[in-house]
Amino acid sequence: MHSHNSKKALFLDRDGVINHDPGDYTKSLAEFVLLPTILQKMKLWFDEGYLLFVITNQGGLAKQLYSENEVMAMHQFVNGECIFREFHITEFFYCPHHEAYSGRCFCRKPGSLMIEKALHRYQLNSANCLMIGDRQRDIDCANAAGVDGVLIETNSEILTPEEWRKMKLSI
Ligand SMILES: [Mg+2]
Repeated sequence: MHSHNSKKALFLDRDGVINHDPGDYTKSLAEFVLLPTILQKMKLWFDEGYLLFVITNQGGLAKQLYSENEVMAMHQFVNGECIFREFHITEFFYCPHHEAYSGRCFCRKPGSLMIEKALHRYQLNSANCLMIGDRQRDIDCANAAGVDGVLIETNSEILTPEEWRKMKLSI
């Protein structure tokens, strides 16, 4: 969060960015399908010194469509696949709330609490971070924490660090 720090991170939404979003909640590991190039792309960022974080709304928890154990199983699966490729996701942040079921909270995107926590906990410089998501609320959440956001199409590919550098130069 403070400018004397140069630590950087890539924040990723989960559903539709890391795993295929069928247009409904992903309720179990059996329904969890990684998108084709996500592991290679995440590794490119990791190899350039970016810490990786997942920032995901899981309102299905508030709706009791699935349990936190199922969410943990999915996240352990993702990190296992990463570790197999010699990188890792530093932390998965998920919001278990939904305003219609558990009331308002500050973590559910577009709220920025999950990103703010990561910035503080890992002493990241928000100016060196990027959020990639497939919903406007992902971008709004990032911007509220002083982080740039790039909106991609649901179930498409994330940018590479090189593509992000070029995009920044052209702004
Ligand atoms: Mg999404």
